[in-house]
Amino acid sequence: MKYCHRCHKLTLGEPVFCNFCGSTYSVKLCGRLHPNPRSAQACSQCGSRDFSTPQPKIPIICRPFVALLHVAPRLIGTSLLAGALYLLFHAISHDPRFLQGLVCLLFLAVAVALIWKLMPKWLQGFLKTSFHVIAVLLKATIRLFFSKNRPSKGVRNRT
Ligand SMILES: [Zn+2]
Ligand SMILES: [Zn+2]
Repeated sequence: MKYCHRCHKLTLGEPVFCNFCGSTYSVKLCGRLHPNPRSAQACSQCGSRDFSTPQPKIPIICRPFVALLHVAPRLIGTSLLAGALYLLFHAISHDPRFLQGLVCLLFLAVAVALIWKLMPKWLQGFLKTSFHVIAVLLKATIRLFFSKNRPSKGVRNRT
């Protein structure tokens, strides 16, 4: 999508000419569509003097906004990531226990992974089966519990 500074309209896609006034964006194109700079008097590739009219130069004040429009999608992604990181650091700086908890969780995960790697196969199989059984039992319990205490749909929204 490009914005025309001559007629102040947007043309979708990656246009070479403005859809509304027919001007080119920041280059002069000859009849054979060779790109030339604004200052060109004749085409550097075919010598033609028949040029398209480029849009007026973008005012310096507006240039940052135009550049911003180009990088907006990436910028939004980066700022979201930065926001998440900022929130994390904010939580850590306000409550050191949060960091301790995080480190503990990390160590726990590494320890569990190491122990799991060191376990003999038969023990892994046994544990997997028992975890599976526990999960099934839990699911059954939860289903039983919720089916008893769910008179209407509105209950789900309650905290
Ligand atoms: Zn235009
Ligand atoms: Zn040309």
